[in-house]
Order: sequence, then structure tokens, then C-alpha cells
Amino acid sequence: MKFCSTNNTNIEVGLKEAVLKGLADDNGLYMPVTMPRLSNDILGNLPQLSFHDLAFAIAQPFVNDDMSDVILRNLVEEAFNFEVPLVQVEDSIYSLELFHGPTLAFKDFGARFMARILGYFTKGLDKEIHVLVATSGDTGSAVANGFLDVPGIKVHVLYPSGLVSTIQEKQFTTLGKNITAIEVAGTFDDCQRLVKQAFLDSDLRNNLILTSANSINLGRLIPQSFYYAFAYAQASKINPDVVFSVPSGNFGNLTAGLIAKAMGIPIHHFLAATNVNDIVPSYLDTARFEPRDSVATISNAMDVGNPSNFVRIQHLYNNSHAAISNDITGYRYTDAAVKQVMKDVYASKGYLLDPHGAIGYLALKEYQKKNSSLGIFLETAHPAKFLDTVEEIIGAKVEIPQKLQKFIAGETKSIPLSNSFNDFKKYLERLV
Ligand SMILES: *Cc1c(COP(=O)(O)O)cnc(C)c1O
Repeated sequence: MKFCSTNNTNIEVGLKEAVLKGLADDNGLYMPVTMPRLSNDILGNLPQLSFHDLAFAIAQPFVNDDMSDVILRNLVEEAFNFEVPLVQVEDSIYSLELFHGPTLAFKDFGARFMARILGYFTKGLDKEIHVLVATSGDTGSAVANGFLDVPGIKVHVLYPSGLVSTIQEKQFTTLGKNITAIEVAGTFDDCQRLVKQAFLDSDLRNNLILTSANSINLGRLIPQSFYYAFAYAQASKINPDVVFSVPSGNFGNLTAGLIAKAMGIPIHHFLAATNVNDIVPSYLDTARFEPRDSVATISNAMDVGNPSNFVRIQHLYNNSHAAISNDITGYRYTDAAVKQVMKDVYASKGYLLDPHGAIGYLALKEYQKKNSSLGIFLETAHPAKFLDTVEEIIGAKVEIPQKLQKFIAGETKSIPLSNSFNDFKKYLERLV
């Protein structure tokens, strides 16, 4: 399978290059040149297939030039060694809980798959690969944990000193082994600038293999399609008319759902559910895509003013607003609405939503006023990750899962660094 840039469909690369580079040379995002279709054997037997069966079937056409079936099967079994439960919340509404991985958020799916693909591609290289990530919190923990113990790869997580929550900091500073946390005296923007400058520095590039693991990487996108297929397969036993509601920020998650549909999973419709950073719902209303500065909300992983994966959605639908609107309806919600629904659903159903999943739930309720589809909203993170916010909203204590407690008990280790590129360059030069 070849992949092209969303800016230029004539640029074609293989999976290895797409995953190592992340972004195409012309700054476009990689997409498959032609969308593969699942076989009738798979599509006709969905309810019988396990998560690993479906993950294998979806990934296989993307990776089969580079990887044998046996290696791929082992890879998906190792990467997805946790549950993906579809939990009924009420009549016709189900929560797809994507928070049972090591960092309790759906970003574990992308990070764990990509880490293993990259580890496979670098086997036999006589040099280590250095993954540089700048994080304001969640990406750093998912990437660090995804790459933990993957041979041949070292991860360097740059984070702004004093500006990430304690739980988030614990999730990437307590790991040790091939993960180094770098505490930058500066902001998240400083961290991002240091990483970007490192990629552009020819001395460093000549001596080190550097790569990023940011959310636009194809290696993180592909595995997100797996759970749509799996959830559809489960739900279709009850009602084959299935709608997914996706709490969205950069729209990687929703794009992965559209890919699952394009590959043949007969998903009826998608809901693009956002907080007040409603660039995509506005596009659906007006046909104008108008990025703007993001506004801070309590669903902060979705505070995105210029959703990076939107170009992939346009590419999938040949830039047709009509075609996009046919498959996606947009909804947006304020913090006040999110707080209210978290309180209500906890009180009436005993189900605790997190501030991101709550937006998916709200959109589904609104959509179902006029439609009778079975609705699945994605629960993108465990509520305990936003402990203070959630406890204040529901007025009760939230139980902290064992996995999170283990991080909290771990010893924090990080390397202090100024925000000057020279200091970062010196740090990297010592790795040669
Ligand atoms: C990253 C994230 C999102 C947004 O996902 P996108 O793929 O960027 O749209 C939603 N919820 C949580 C908890 C996240 O960490």
C-alpha cells in the first residue's frame, strides 16, 4: 500500500517513510492512495470476530508490503492487551470505553500501535531512534507509555515546568528505562519550538535519527479504526442502524471512524461533538472552514482552534461539503451543559461521564430526538484523570483506578532544561 500527501496526491511513499516522517515534505498529511475494502468474509461475519481479528483485518492492507501476517497478528495482540467494553448506559445509548489502556485514555490505542510499528521498522538498524515529543499533558503520557520497553527506541518528553497536572506529570516522569522526561523552564510553546528546531537542525539530523510521534502520524490513526469496527460488530447484534458520537478536538478519532466506514463497516452516521471550539460544526453549518484561537474549557483535550486532521476528512470526501454533511452532523456544548449532564447522568443512571465523553453523550441525546438509531458515544478518558473537576461537579469522591494509583506512587525523575535551543542541542549531542 502506498500513501499520498493530502496536498499532492502524486507524492507516494511506503508505510515506513510515512510513519518515520509523520508529515509529508509539502506539510500535507499522509492518506492511503486507494482505500482498501474489507473482504465479504469479514463483513459478513462481524459479530463473530474478536477485537484482535478486526484489528488484524483492518491493519493488514495498510502494512502488508512491510510486515508478515504472523508478525502483524502478534503485534496487535501485544499492543491491545486490555478490554474495549461497550457499556449500556440507557435504552439505545452505549458508551464505548476507550480508557482501559495504561494511561486511561484512547490515545493509548494510537501510541501503542505506532510504537510497535516503529520498533519493527528499526529492528536491524545499528542506530537507535530518538522520539521527541512536546506535551502539555496527555500526549506525553500516552507516547511515553506506548514506547516503554520497545527496543531500539528512546523517547524524550519535553514538558513545561509547573504547567501540567500532577497526575499527568507522574505518567511520564516515573517510567525510567527508555523514557526520559525533560522539564523545560518555559511554556508548552517553548517545548514545541525546541522540538521543531531540533528537526530542522542539520548537525543533529546528520548524527541522530529523530522522529516525532504527534497525533497526525498515520501510525497513530490506523489503529483508531479498529474499535469502530469492533463496537459496530457488537452493537449490530442488537440493531444494525448504528450512529457514533465522537468528542473531537483535532479530529483524528472521527477521521478513523470515517476510514472504518470507507473500508466497508456499514456505520449509518457520525456526530462531530465539540466544546465551544466548534470550528468543524461551524463548517458543517456554513461550508466555511475558519480556524481561530482556541478557548479554554473543562474538556481541555478538545480545546483546538485549527483541527489538524480536517484536511484528511476533506481528502476522503473530495472536498465536497455536501458529501461530508451527509455523513457527519455537528454539535457543540458549553461547559455549563457538560457539568449539568455529568451530574444528571450520574444521578439518574449511576454512570460517571468524563468531561469529554459527556459531550459525545449530549450530542447523541440531541440527535436521537429525531432519529431512532442505536447510539454509541466514545468515552475517550477515565473520569479520574480529571479528578478535581469531576469531584466538584458531582459533589462526590471518585475512585482512583489501580493503574493511576501506581503512577501516583512512583518516583518523579526529570532533567531540568532552560528554554534555549542551544541547551537542548547540547543535550541531544550527548546522545550521539
Ligand atoms: C485527544 C483527546 C480528544 C480529542 O481527540 P481528537 O482525535 O484530537 O479529536 C478527546 N478526548 C480526550 C480525553 C483526548 O485526550
